[in-house]
Amino acid sequence: MTKKMILDKSLEEWTKAYPLLKDLTSLKEVFWTNPKQTSFNDAMKKISLNEADVKDAEDRLDRFASYIAKVFPETQANNGIIESPNVRVPKMKTFLEEMYNQEIHGDLLLKCDSHLAISGSIKARGGIYEVLKHAEDLAMEHKLLSLNDDYSTLDSDEFRNFFSQYTVAVGSTGNLGLSIGIMSAKLGFKVFVHMSADAKQWKKDLLRSKGVTVVEYASDYSKAVEEGRKQSDADPKSYFVDDENSQNLFLGYAVAASRLKKQLDEMDVVVDKEHPLFVYLPCGVGGGPGGVAFGLKLVFKDNVHCFFAEPTHSPCMLIGMMTEEHDKVCVQDFGIDNVTVADGLAVGRASGFVGVTLENLLSGDFTVDDKTLFVLLSALADLEDVYLEPSALAGFRGAVDVFKTEAGKMYLKENQLEELMKNATHMAWGTGGSMVPKDEMDKYYQMGRTLSNQE
Ligand SMILES: *Cc1c(COP(=O)(O)O)cnc(C)c1O
Repeated sequence: MTKKMILDKSLEEWTKAYPLLKDLTSLKEVFWTNPKQTSFNDAMKKISLNEADVKDAEDRLDRFASYIAKVFPETQANNGIIESPNVRVPKMKTFLEEMYNQEIHGDLLLKCDSHLAISGSIKARGGIYEVLKHAEDLAMEHKLLSLNDDYSTLDSDEFRNFFSQYTVAVGSTGNLGLSIGIMSAKLGFKVFVHMSADAKQWKKDLLRSKGVTVVEYASDYSKAVEEGRKQSDADPKSYFVDDENSQNLFLGYAVAASRLKKQLDEMDVVVDKEHPLFVYLPCGVGGGPGGVAFGLKLVFKDNVHCFFAEPTHSPCMLIGMMTEEHDKVCVQDFGIDNVTVADGLAVGRASGFVGVTLENLLSGDFTVDDKTLFVLLSALADLEDVYLEPSALAGFRGAVDVFKTEAGKMYLKENQLEELMKNATHMAWGTGGSMVPKDEMDKYYQMGRTLSNQE
């Protein structure tokens, strides 16, 4: 019998090199800190993207604001800028402290990307940005648009006819498809969304109602992306939104940071050397949390500490970063099934681009059990009246783990943060949920209640 090899090593050899794999493959909740993290300045020397790239993305979104406000009236109040609320959740903090029997030093905030206009998830940042950038590129290439035009002119039959010659395609577990699909269809593009088996029926129905062609796969996200890419590449007028490698998506997400800085200023939340900011971001393939984390590092540098959160069944970024093999390995290689209620995070192979870009910037990554997600979901609904989808709850546990786990305590100690944590702000990034139909949300909520009562 030959042993099954993962790249050049057996599972036993991998586990010997990285003992945390024992807990990961037993689907236990873990907390990992990144031994390769360096200072912001050192990390940036190896990264080709910079502040100017994020500023360019921000300016592009500003140019499109008049168009967005016109075609999505729900964005008018914010003048066509798609941005989400940022709120204190003190009752949730108390709940977490009691649930885990662990004091959380500092304030707890929730960033409500669940309530972003147009597609109700963090994908309304990167996804919509990339479609707008593609539309702008095409229109400018054909001399139909210039930088100083009022972009609300894109809401016309002339432009819709122009864009209808072109196709936009994407592979998705659901939310990216929603955001790319809704935005592309609005501009007039033909759209193909390749959906993995995790994708919820209501998302497919909604997209079809907007004229989007939804292609369904019985397998996971990687397959949907692979097939989508293949089909799109065969058509020269088709543009494939590459969730695994796209710098445009990444930059669209990164714009969140400068806007967050303004929100924190308005709330009198200070972030500086004495007042650290800890941000916990649910992670699927990595583009969303990676882009946001990159933007946050540009704005707050060494004063922000970014952690990713993944399901115990899909810890692709953690395994990729820890082994430094990134997208060369997937969770299935290690016998982990990538089956989770957190459909937005059901990704078995992480983005290599994101893993490498964040190699020296990310503070750590932790995993959360599906049951925990449901319990947190119903608690947040009861205590703060905010309804999130399961994926979006994954971040909360980070605020407990930095104090409760050995790795977390070590992180605070090594970064000389122990004395400063009473001044800290913890932020769970609530990545989605406002568009979940009520009957679906009721089921999630009931599940959370049932599981809470069993404790
Ligand atoms: C997509 C998604 C994420 C993670 O984003 P990635 O770019 O896949 O890492 C987190 N939460 C929700 C609700 C999502 O839809």
